[in-house]
Amino acid sequence: PTAAISSAIDGLPEMPPHDFQPSTHDGLDFSTVLNIRKKNLNPALFTFYRKPVYIHQGHMQYLWDTNGRRYIDLFAGIVTVSVGHCHPTVGRAAQEQMKKLWHTTNIYLHPKIHEYAEKLVSKLPGNLKVVYVTNSGSEANDLAILMARLYTGVFECVSLRNCYHGASPYLMGLTALSTWRYNSPTGFGFHHTMNPDPYRGPWGGKHCRDSPAQPGRQCDCVEGECHAKDMYVDQLEDVLRYSMPKGKVAAFIAEAIQGVGGAVQLPDGYLKKAYEKIRAHGGLCIADEVQTGFGRLGSHYWGFESQGVVPDIVTMAKGMGNGYPMGAVVTTPEIAATMGQALHFNTFGGNPVACAVGSAVLDVIDEEKTQALCADVGTYFIQALDSLRSEFEIIGDIRGKGLMIGVELVKDKVSRDPLPGDEVASIWEDTKEMGVLIGKGGLFGNCLRIKPPMCLTKADVDYSLAVLRRALQNHSQRQ
Ligand code: PLP
Repeated sequence: PTAAISSAIDGLPEMPPHDFQPSTHDGLDFSTVLNIRKKNLNPALFTFYRKPVYIHQGHMQYLWDTNGRRYIDLFAGIVTVSVGHCHPTVGRAAQEQMKKLWHTTNIYLHPKIHEYAEKLVSKLPGNLKVVYVTNSGSEANDLAILMARLYTGVFECVSLRNCYHGASPYLMGLTALSTWRYNSPTGFGFHHTMNPDPYRGPWGGKHCRDSPAQPGRQCDCVEGECHAKDMYVDQLEDVLRYSMPKGKVAAFIAEAIQGVGGAVQLPDGYLKKAYEKIRAHGGLCIADEVQTGFGRLGSHYWGFESQGVVPDIVTMAKGMGNGYPMGAVVTTPEIAATMGQALHFNTFGGNPVACAVGSAVLDVIDEEKTQALCADVGTYFIQALDSLRSEFEIIGDIRGKGLMIGVELVKDKVSRDPLPGDEVASIWEDTKEMGVLIGKGGLFGNCLRIKPPMCLTKADVDYSLAVLRRALQNHSQRQ
């Protein structure tokens, strides 16, 4: 059952070897699942691919389906498995804690929440010292907005277009990606400013990033000094001026690299200027680190550090539990004080098992030098993709940092029109058939998102590149 799928594919190298022995699967078989899906018996069976992948086991950067096929996981369950599927250290920490105490609700303290909060704040700069543990990123952002409104006494908040900050009705108002907004009432008091998108925005901003300058529209930079960011910040000023009663704002929230939006990397210095503006209007600055945190960018532990800013509130989730459901809000004692002593109630948030898992994840990131690994393997990946870009007209942009990478597919490099969805889907389905699972996103659904478990190796990158090249060649032949 462990036969590598790659051996069946002509001319491709073998998938990198491994010494993990997955167990065989003895539950529902694949055809049963397909039948369930076909008959629409279970609407919860929403899956990514035309023919769903039925995964039953994972180990570090690999997944196995019920047929025993191995896949390189380049999407990590939507950027959620940080240090590796079923990482043994994290698994042991959960098991040990489960022998002692699973739950108290946060009406009592327990040693694990104390240990976890201390460890987490040691990773954060400034006066970010108070931790609220939640169960998800949406809950964390809901709470962060509530805090900002209580602290400032102002209701209005601003986010970037193309952002995704969560799925609660409240946060759907904050999220500015139409694909993730439904035709129902959303939270009030949310405003959106122009996205400082170096590839699609009117002023570019490309020179201000680490990746090589690309032909086409670029910002008007001189000697590394980026002017694009100033123009995007003027747009923010415009929103503040026209939309905020008495010129006051409660909060501004942004990721340093937009995850769901397609790994859009903000121009250098944008957040610094934006934070100055927001603070001048009395608001708090929230960094959403749900995808960008915990060393994934390689250069920094937190995404906001790559922009040289210190936020007032940081939200996180996904990778902090390596797939175990948890999230958190971290803020200053002054801001936390407005919440009152026991005002915020959350039954499962901060339960001992989650805290044990979160604590083990922080240890593994240190012990395995995960951040340095992201920098090394991520740079290798981005360089390889940059060279692939010169081979294929439909690769419009390669962007990102560390192991948070986006590949934007277009009709051609000059028009930058998004590649139609069915063509993107065929490329993406093709990579799956060759054993590589990639994410997809962006407003037009034309961005491949590469955000694997952070233990990916260069050998995995080589194989993934060979697969992507083959899928793009297959696409060219189909045209
Ligand atoms: N913030 C960002 C940047 C996200 O990518 C997500 C989820 O994809 C969320 C918040 C919401 O997190 P959750 O799905 O855990 O509620």
